[in-house]
Amino acid sequence: MKERTIVVVGAGPAGLMAAISASQNNNNNRVIVLEKNSEAGKKLLLTGGGRCNVTNNCNVDQLIKNTVTNGKFLFSCFNIFNNDDLMKFFENYGLKLKIEEGGKVFPTSDKARDVLYILLETLESNGVKIWYDSEVEKININENGISEITLRNKNIIKADSVIIATGGMSYPKTGSTGDGYRIVKELGHAVVDIKPGLVPIEIKEGWIKSLMGISLESTNIVCNVKDIEKPNKKPKTIKWTGPLIFTHYGISGPAVLNISSYLNKHINNSIIDIIIDIVPNVSEQELENILVSKEFEKNETIFKTLSKILPKNLVTALLDVLELNKDKKLSDISKEESNKIITNLKTLKLTPKDLRSISEAIITSGGISTKEIDPKTMASKLVEGLYFAGEIIDVDAITGGYNLQIAFTTGYVAGLNA
Ligand SMILES: Cc1cc2nc3c(=O)[nH]c(=O)nc-3n(C[C@H](O)[C@H](O)[C@H](O)COP(=O)(O)OP(=O)(O)OC[C@H]3O[C@@H](n4cnc5c(N)ncnc54)[C@H](O)[C@@H]3O)c2cc1C
Repeated sequence: MKERTIVVVGAGPAGLMAAISASQNNNNNRVIVLEKNSEAGKKLLLTGGGRCNVTNNCNVDQLIKNTVTNGKFLFSCFNIFNNDDLMKFFENYGLKLKIEEGGKVFPTSDKARDVLYILLETLESNGVKIWYDSEVEKININENGISEITLRNKNIIKADSVIIATGGMSYPKTGSTGDGYRIVKELGHAVVDIKPGLVPIEIKEGWIKSLMGISLESTNIVCNVKDIEKPNKKPKTIKWTGPLIFTHYGISGPAVLNISSYLNKHINNSIIDIIIDIVPNVSEQELENILVSKEFEKNETIFKTLSKILPKNLVTALLDVLELNKDKKLSDISKEESNKIITNLKTLKLTPKDLRSISEAIITSGGISTKEIDPKTMASKLVEGLYFAGEIIDVDAITGGYNLQIAFTTGYVAGLNA
């Protein structure tokens, strides 16, 4: 049988896994990975704060449900290579894994480098070559489909199949600068609008600055999204529970990052209210008992009372924002002032100005239209021999290991079929 050359563009998790499956049990495939950096997996090494939340130990329905954009597109791929298969793959190659809160799976060593090491070692034993400092500029096609690849240094590589795994546009210093979008547009593919996903939110209210640095372990966030062009349409509601951090420009933290991935499609065409319960573990009734009925220490200062249920820096900032003297005794606080405090604790209303830029985003939302990709093989429906894998595709998920799982799954399936 004639040897085939399969070229994978990008040595991130998707590209490395694609090269592994393309080279596994198939001696007729000569597999080459082209990477523009001088090392592989620069972004992979940053994942999970350097610990690499490699996947999530949930069922396939949850994998799809937690994919914010085009989850159903992944259904066939997950039937071929899902999170169980990924965990078995790593464990077979000697990488021990552990499961943490929320089903998040990490290497037991807490080192992303160990994940990268397994991928590179497997590639080496499969005889795959990685060409570093090799930036792909263009893919050339002829009447039969893929023909060759032009590198930036003008070298040309002949190929039978090409897998594009160049990632998105977030954290561009890692090499993900969106090259793939330009390359595939030249081949006729549609790219759905690129937006930041899993990104902090800028807030209009200027006083938010005084809450900067305050971090809350648990909050309930509700966003009401009203489409400006369809004022009669019922507002969409997005809810999330989890930690939140106030910053100099607005809000961040896991709950906010997840919400941003749902808001990014609405932020420029909707009126959005963000309502935060910053004390979800204290009911409105309990607050009323403390502040309105003053069931407890009447002679205590408002600062001391609130500090029993909230971090001290938050109480100081909140009283500042509400222009209330922190040394005022509880007995001197009016009903109106108490209600103002309760409203701000249980339903703090904020208005989003924008999302932070894509360079700060954990994930890129948008990318190559899934309508032009065969969901069973990751093959282009437009160009024979062209395949896609990872973040370059218009799929993105919430935090928890789902995005890496998508990269590994689509990579595996593309490699299997290329
Ligand atoms: C800070 C941070 C933390 C994260 N933590 C997690 C986590 O814990 N769990 C999780 O599931 N997800 C996490 N993610 C998301 C995850 O990293 C991505 O989903 C994943 O890296 C996407 O893999 P990829 O292979 O598609 O793209 P990338 O990892 O971006 O790899 C693309 C590769 O292609 C190369 N390339 C680009 N253009 C060219 C070109 N023209 N020629 C040659 N090579 C090129 C790039 O240099 C890069 O090496 C995190 C992301 C960030 C930024």
